[in-house]
Amino acid sequence: MRVECKSKHFELQRLEDGIYAAIAKDGGGAVGNAGFIDLGDQTIIFDTFNTQQAAADLKKCAEELTGHEVSWAINSHYHGDHIRGNQVFASCQILSSDTTYSNIKELQPTRIESQKDDMKGLAKYISTLETTLQETNDKKLEVQISFLKEIESSLPTLSLTLPTVTFQDMYTFKGSKRSAVLFTKGGGHTPCDAFLYMPDDQVIFMGDLLFVNTHPSIFEDSDVDNWINILQELLTWDINVAIPGHGPVGTKNDLLTIIRYMNNLKQTIAQGGDHDQIKIPEPYQGWALPELFQRNLKQLQQS
Ligand SMILES: [Zn+2]
Repeated sequence: MRVECKSKHFELQRLEDGIYAAIAKDGGGAVGNAGFIDLGDQTIIFDTFNTQQAAADLKKCAEELTGHEVSWAINSHYHGDHIRGNQVFASCQILSSDTTYSNIKELQPTRIESQKDDMKGLAKYISTLETTLQETNDKKLEVQISFLKEIESSLPTLSLTLPTVTFQDMYTFKGSKRSAVLFTKGGGHTPCDAFLYMPDDQVIFMGDLLFVNTHPSIFEDSDVDNWINILQELLTWDINVAIPGHGPVGTKNDLLTIIRYMNNLKQTIAQGGDHDQIKIPEPYQGWALPELFQRNLKQLQQS
């Protein structure tokens, strides 16, 4: 169900009384999905988006709809589109796994600094794209420009804010209205990915362990075998609604789809041959980010 709190960065969906998914809009400052959960006497934000302006809208919506201040913000993994809004939640406790904390601390400062150092380069790149847009009227280019402008406007005031509390395997929130449990079972998409489960509601926020109707992104530090293991274990859990890191709200069946996608990539590599010529298999042809298919094959082949 759509709800009234509006943002150009995300569409808010009410999944249960007190559980909301914030699904990123193309070309906005969110990039990754997020959400919030009203525990009764506490509110949890799951992931903080790619920019502080998108995170500020999320905070505003969470406070409006729950009627109280945010207590916790979770970082599911270290990627920028899940943590760069942290500064908006500086007055809350920010929670991640130990590994994710270390990854953010080690990897993000240089990434952010190098972007800040190249603001002129970014402005020049955007204006080149704008010239091309005038000539082509390409809708995809328009989305790309809008996304880059959100980054451009975030950079001058962006300040990396680290988690303030860490956990190892599991962290339980006991609220007056419901409980929520944050888990990690090691690496999948990154060296450590966390997911948040509301057992009474059978709702799970998956971070980037789940992509729906979108090619998952596999990186150098991904662990595809463990990723499959985690999803396989979750297939045995009671889950009605699964919120992915990217793409629309899904169900348990979407976990199975990603397992099949990963196994398909592994089989393709095992068969050998020239992967450049391999087309996207039929079930995944309508998915967003099709350019990731070839990149995923190459990444998996090298690992
Ligand atoms: Zn990610």
